[in-house]
Amino acid sequence: MSSTMIPEQLQQQIDTAALMARGIKHAALPDEEREALTNRIKQQLAQQDAVLVAHYYVDDELQDLADATGGVVADSLEMARFGYEHPASTVVVAGVRFMAETAKILSPNKKVLAVERAAECSLDLGCPIEAFSRFCDQHLDRTVVVYANTSAAVKARADWVVTSSIALKVVEYLRDKGETILWAPDRFLGDYVQRMTGADMVMWQGSCIVHEEFKAHELKKMKQQYPSAAVLVHPESPAAVIDLADRVGSTSQIIKAAVEMDNDVFIVATEDGIFHKMREAAPGKRFIAAPTAGEGATCKSCAHCPWMKMNDLPRLAHVLETGENEVFIAESIRQQAEVSLKRMVDFARTHINPNMHVTGNA
Ligand code: SF4
Repeated sequence: MSSTMIPEQLQQQIDTAALMARGIKHAALPDEEREALTNRIKQQLAQQDAVLVAHYYVDDELQDLADATGGVVADSLEMARFGYEHPASTVVVAGVRFMAETAKILSPNKKVLAVERAAECSLDLGCPIEAFSRFCDQHLDRTVVVYANTSAAVKARADWVVTSSIALKVVEYLRDKGETILWAPDRFLGDYVQRMTGADMVMWQGSCIVHEEFKAHELKKMKQQYPSAAVLVHPESPAAVIDLADRVGSTSQIIKAAVEMDNDVFIVATEDGIFHKMREAAPGKRFIAAPTAGEGATCKSCAHCPWMKMNDLPRLAHVLETGENEVFIAESIRQQAEVSLKRMVDFARTHINPNMHVTGNA
């Protein structure tokens, strides 16, 4: 298995972007102001024939607003699918940039608005199209499989787009056909897929700044402290953390596991915004964030995605009232990216479940 490293300069840019995003402080809104903002947003959504789709990792109040106004809280592909199938002419995306782009790829005739245009993702930032294309050019014999957390341009260069819930099945299928894989951008998810399938894979070396921070050593100690707890881990986490999991899965799969498993306590290794939906789905159960750093150490993320947390009520109201942050994608790129995305959707229907919705990225 070979790989390509993220250049130091690019890594510094990612760290700087994350630092800046973390530096944005959200003032706690007085109740009256929050209520007035919420009412303005509801009015605008209705007037503009718009629907709000939110990711599991955004703040509780945005998730609640999406639910209350007939929108959805989901993972990124389910967000895009929901926006595509919903009759509204405008889709408003509370999440990060690649999620708004994915919605636009599937719904080119709808207006797609991003609540926060500067909300990035370290996986997307760490896989710029120029460098990625050069990597692909070095491996023209390989099938290019990219994770959904990528730009439209990277998706357009790929043969397949996959989510974390379907990655194993797609790679097994390609392996059985004798194909070798070029995988991007998440090295931990790629490593997990490679270990589980034994496929011949070369890897891009991107990572999620949230999931890479989970620490196996500290998790072992936490397991001793809560011996009856089940450990749920997102596969963007390091291998040593995945190896301690009772269930490894996408955001949707982790929520499902919390409902289905008999345990009363869960240690959860993913972004902590997910706890809101987990508590709703499995009331009475206890959810504890997996440790991101040893005693006395500082963590870079502490299980918060700084970009997801840029989404808030004032920005949502502003975008609806001004029409700012509309997403545009060059049609040639959109069409190519749509081919790679729809290949996954068709695969899910024909190889897994005809009624299945493909879900499960970040
Ligand atoms: S949590 Fe990680 S994968 Fe998800 S948007 Fe943030 S940086 Fe990207």
